[in-house]
Amino acid sequence: MTMNLENKIALVTGGSRGIGRAIALSLATAGAKVAIVYRSAASEAEEVVQSIKANGGDAVAFQADVALFNQAVEIVTKVVAQFGRLDILVNNAGITKDGLLLRMSEVDWDVVINTNLKSVFNFTKASTKQMMGQRAGKIINITSIVGITGNAGQANYVASKAGVIGFTKSIAKELSSRNIQVNAVAPGFVETDMTGKLTEDQQKAIAEKIPLKRTAKPDEIASVVTFLASSGSDYITGQTSCVDGGLTLL
Ligand code: NAP
Repeated sequence: MTMNLENKIALVTGGSRGIGRAIALSLATAGAKVAIVYRSAASEAEEVVQSIKANGGDAVAFQADVALFNQAVEIVTKVVAQFGRLDILVNNAGITKDGLLLRMSEVDWDVVINTNLKSVFNFTKASTKQMMGQRAGKIINITSIVGITGNAGQANYVASKAGVIGFTKSIAKELSSRNIQVNAVAPGFVETDMTGKLTEDQQKAIAEKIPLKRTAKPDEIASVVTFLASSGSDYITGQTSCVDGGLTLL
């Protein structure tokens, strides 16, 4: 039963919607107690909590801006106070503010870097002491395949996601002696609010370029994250798993 997460405590940033929601539900189904962090979608976050509880699990939602270090420390302190430990951290919260460099404002650069990359520093640093004391932990960072391939019109987003991959490798090396595995998951195109802004024709054109000829459902990312959160992944650290229907093979 390598996917059994009973007695494990998980913290998922951006757990109110999309991929983070699917991750929270999947970890809970495997037996973990789950704390989610959301920014503004209070009713969606509450729906995730109630859905986990309705299935016999335990969950709690916290409002915070993941870009702020002091709020990350507060959340981790609250999770440990409520559940007694922290076994799994999923750094998932993220945003896009796309535009070609010539038109990209400094504000759009800063907010994407702070939300997508600094947040990973914030929550990882805030969680590390607890995990080091436990001599065990799993940290999973959600990056993107564009952090590997690059993408015109997304320099801020791509820089943040490439940064997450470098951060993952470095912290994996730093924490390996304490039995803490740190990995990244790089989704391709997933059907969420983030990608919902594209027209149906644009989505069809993207699907055509994917070897598996379709986009992903959030559950298909969540299952890989759940594996990386489980003991089945104990010998994997510092890696980036592309979950992209083969898109990066091209
Ligand atoms: P989404 O549907 O837009 O959901 C984003 C989540 O992040 C929401 O829960 C949101 O909270 C939270 N969030 C955003 N900014 C935050 C902040 N400052 N503080 C706290 N929470 C914040 O996005 P998604 O598509 O599920 O994406 C999830 C992750 O996967 C992101 O890191 C994204 O870059 C990555 N990814 C997505 C795709 C894709 O195709 N969708 C592909 C590759 C990588 P609220 O609900 O409160 O706003």
